[in-house]
Amino acid sequence: MKKLTASLLSLLFVAACAAGPDAPVAASDGDAESSVLLAGGLVFSGDASPPIAADVLIRGDRIESVGAPGSLDADLVLDVSGLAVAPGFIDLHSHAVRASAERSGLYRWPDAENLLRQGVTTVIGGPDGWSPLPLAEHFAAVEASPAAVNYGAFVGHGAVRQHIVGLDDRPATAQEMAAMRAAVEQAMRDGAFGLSSGLVYIPGSFADTDELVALARVAGQHGGIYISHMRNENLDVLDSVAELIRIAEEGGLPGQITHAKVMSTAMQGRSVDLLAMVDAAVARGVDITLDQYPYAAGSTGLTVQFPRWSRDGGNAKLAERLANAEQRARIRDELIYQLTEVRGRNDPANVQLAYCNFDHSLDGLNLAQLLEQRGRDVSIANAADLIIELQEAGGCQAIYHAMHPDDVAVIMRHPRTMIAADGGIEAPGNGHPHPRNYGTHARVLGRYVRELGVLPLHTAIHKMTRMPAARIGLDDRGSIGAGMVADIVVFDPDSVVDRATFTQPHQYAEGMRHVFVAGQAVLLEQRLTGARPGRVLRSAAYEVGN
Ligand SMILES: [Zn+2]
Repeated sequence: MKKLTASLLSLLFVAACAAGPDAPVAASDGDAESSVLLAGGLVFSGDASPPIAADVLIRGDRIESVGAPGSLDADLVLDVSGLAVAPGFIDLHSHAVRASAERSGLYRWPDAENLLRQGVTTVIGGPDGWSPLPLAEHFAAVEASPAAVNYGAFVGHGAVRQHIVGLDDRPATAQEMAAMRAAVEQAMRDGAFGLSSGLVYIPGSFADTDELVALARVAGQHGGIYISHMRNENLDVLDSVAELIRIAEEGGLPGQITHAKVMSTAMQGRSVDLLAMVDAAVARGVDITLDQYPYAAGSTGLTVQFPRWSRDGGNAKLAERLANAEQRARIRDELIYQLTEVRGRNDPANVQLAYCNFDHSLDGLNLAQLLEQRGRDVSIANAADLIIELQEAGGCQAIYHAMHPDDVAVIMRHPRTMIAADGGIEAPGNGHPHPRNYGTHARVLGRYVRELGVLPLHTAIHKMTRMPAARIGLDDRGSIGAGMVADIVVFDPDSVVDRATFTQPHQYAEGMRHVFVAGQAVLLEQRLTGARPGRVLRSAAYEVGN
């Protein structure tokens, strides 16, 4: 047995880096005899129970055993006394892959440092109704260039609809419905974990509830869940919750409200009503869960504020309508309403630009600042004009400070809520993203557990590990126990903290000491090792060579 000190570890680390990213640092993936012992830590199993003092033995890519302190031995022993040992965090809402390869962090930054420093070892993509298609090809491409983290996906309803119906605002024909059902079925056989929808986006918003029920039923028949960015998250959010519950109930499958929230001043406090609807559905046997990021601001494109009729046919059609004076005025009226009553909460400063492809000098400014910069009065009407101008110039991603912090905490406490970032793989210098990309999981552990006492630590960890794993049927991840895949995080519960803010988002979280993926160290003594042992995860419905 070798007792590893920090200095010996750093020597190993340097040797591994010199040998290149393929050289394993701790437990080996190729040598079944190689073992690592995490000794002296406080072990959180991932279930909803308090931690125990125990040693964890990793052999190859699995956890071989969990034993009383001092009872186990290994080739290498890592002293983790005073630290928390937990399953790697699993995030069910990830934008690690986006519609364009140059914005897909999984390909650009496969070391996924912003995720590893929060303790995230598995991300599930294909959220909000968009996924690459066909999934089989997509998964093969990811497998050909592995990342540091594991990756799986939902199949996106919007992607399927765009492929078969296009971007028009009309019901699908019977023939198109059959083709969409077949596409969802194929994606499930390719290993998707269920069907996602994004009903504020086009073309998702053009689907009626019956269409979603029919496609969700196919996903459910293959063991999948239905996870939805709902049609409305502000004034009509409760109607949207009712729609999601109906889709789960009539579709015969579990449903999940993703990034659960209530936006707008008028809806402040109504998270209680949202959760009461979930509880009532669960009580009558409909399996509903939620996920959430721990911030009182959301992020999406500026176009979600435009009226649905103006987006029929896509951005080119929207541009034509903006060129028509009468239609432009109607759109402007809707934007004034949105800025006053909904996402803007009556202050242009509540809408912040995150990412403008046509001019990155705008990234990070809010609409009040941009109006001032351009010598215009800060008013709701001028902000509406500005949004139209930004859209005509190419459009932007935005951050909307439209929630109340109390609602965030109320939703987080609910026993059926898990944690998911709704972020991607990011790196410094790339636009001005929402801080959730860098901070989500560390923020829950540092701010909501340690500082605010909203949750006990073991409950927060459960919401990041076994709970999401169980939701999508990952039977051998999300727990510390013999036979489980050794995706493990070791962190300091007294210092773990998020550093990313809305003004300075590109700041890594702190406090993660070691992170293992399939038994390989990807973060060791707080340093990236360069190893990329991440795998593509497919659902139990996956049929080889289907
Ligand atoms: Zn979303």
